[in-house]
Amino acid sequence: MARQLLNLIGNHFQPAESGKTLDVWDPAQGRVYALLPRSDADDIETAVLAAETAFADWSGLAPDDRAKYLFQVADQIEARLEDFAQAESLDTGKPLWLARQVDIPRAVRNFRFFAAGLLHFSSESHALPGFLNYTLRQSLGVVACISPWNLPLYLLSWKIAPALAMGNTVVAKPSEVTPLTAVLLSEVLLESGFPKGVLNLVHGLGSEAGAALIHHPKIKAISFTGSTRTGAEIARIAAPRFKKLSLEMGGKNAALVFADCDYENMLETSVRSAFTNQGQICLCMSRILVERSLYSRFRDDFVARVKALKVGDPQEPDTRIGALVSQAHQEKILRHIDLAQQEGGSLLCGGQSVQLSGRCAQGWFVQPTVFEGLSASCRTNQEEIFGPVVTLQAFDNESEALALANGTDYGLASSVWTTDQARALRLSEKLQAGLVWVNCWMERDLRTPFGGVKNSGLGREGGWEALRFFSEAKNICLAYPP
Ligand code: NAD
Repeated sequence: MARQLLNLIGNHFQPAESGKTLDVWDPAQGRVYALLPRSDADDIETAVLAAETAFADWSGLAPDDRAKYLFQVADQIEARLEDFAQAESLDTGKPLWLARQVDIPRAVRNFRFFAAGLLHFSSESHALPGFLNYTLRQSLGVVACISPWNLPLYLLSWKIAPALAMGNTVVAKPSEVTPLTAVLLSEVLLESGFPKGVLNLVHGLGSEAGAALIHHPKIKAISFTGSTRTGAEIARIAAPRFKKLSLEMGGKNAALVFADCDYENMLETSVRSAFTNQGQICLCMSRILVERSLYSRFRDDFVARVKALKVGDPQEPDTRIGALVSQAHQEKILRHIDLAQQEGGSLLCGGQSVQLSGRCAQGWFVQPTVFEGLSASCRTNQEEIFGPVVTLQAFDNESEALALANGTDYGLASSVWTTDQARALRLSEKLQAGLVWVNCWMERDLRTPFGGVKNSGLGREGGWEALRFFSEAKNICLAYPP
């Protein structure tokens, strides 16, 4: 029997008002395990009303009191970490160890970080002779948080925690592909006595529930993470309505590997940065650019390590590559692999779907795949694949490496591997990316600005950036009394 998942609106669990549902799939087993409310504009209307009603009390709380609620949510997620990790692995197909070590602990950190951040946040004052300006950072009202399927709770909590911290009330639309941890979060909200209507979680399709949410006149700000295509659509709707907008979108990230790098560290990290979460992290390095003198050594060592990655049941501790998130996504990845071959790429390893035996016999798995010999301008090197597929390209000098790295419409993240500090600094300034890692990857300090340039993003999340996004600055100028 498929489990019935529900919306949380005004602290009530409820189905879609229409009674319609969507299937939710376990990608490792290729089976429907739950039904999700297929919410539409009516459910969004109810949720926005609940959030609007809750706004005055929530925004009026002292920072300490709001922070206390967020700390409680963090504690309760942590207390149920195993349930959350199992749910995240079931829903996404990612290895269970990854959900235990990364996804859920990071969601806990997100709540704690913004709860603590709120307590330390301050606003500016500017003095003039005879006058004092001070800036109030006021809550916006009801805001929308829309998140994708690849890091479901991690990215949802990265938005709702700062939105709530700043005194806004929220209507969130988690990905319809991976809703389960958002439902567990709903349970945690009720268990922790979270005030009614402050956070509402409404499930459904992007084209229905999502579209109704971004169109809603009472939504003051939209924080979105997902594909560039959806981001462009949201911008088209939101811009003429003058809603605040934060867009975190796709990437085609490049790692720049120089011959003078710390080879072992670079090699081990390159495998992780290409294939963690089946390559389905916006920060994954999908293009590895290697200085020509190192190229053949790197290629051979890299391919040998990639071939050793175990594709398997997400429940098994030695699985390195779990299932892709859906059948549609598996088909998309396989089409990209065909395209890379048509474009003249040489397949160095992988390239096939994987048929496991036993429990996961019907699951959607693809081998980690590496190509070389493709032109920089071909579709494989230009379009986001968002799966376990990487390309290798050789370069002769720093300026060629930079041109290759910057030569796409995206600009989310880059990594630079060199022991030459001057080169690392030069390149870091010139790379068209919102994030540059030098001799590391995915080291995340939550205080730092996070986001992309070009088609990868608009605005920044993280630290004070997020607290500023979720507030309106109002300047007040006081004349000194005569
Ligand atoms: P997606 O754009 O299909 O969906 C993201 C969310 O938007 C979902 O909740 C979806 O239901 C909703 N949505 C879809 N159409 C909508 C509409 N018209 N109006 C309102 N909401 C709508 O993305 P996805 O396939 O879930 O996620 C994968 C993408 O996310 C990749 O491109 C990846 O690079 C990107 N991503 C970016 C970051 C980042 O920080 N830059 C992080 C993770 C993922």
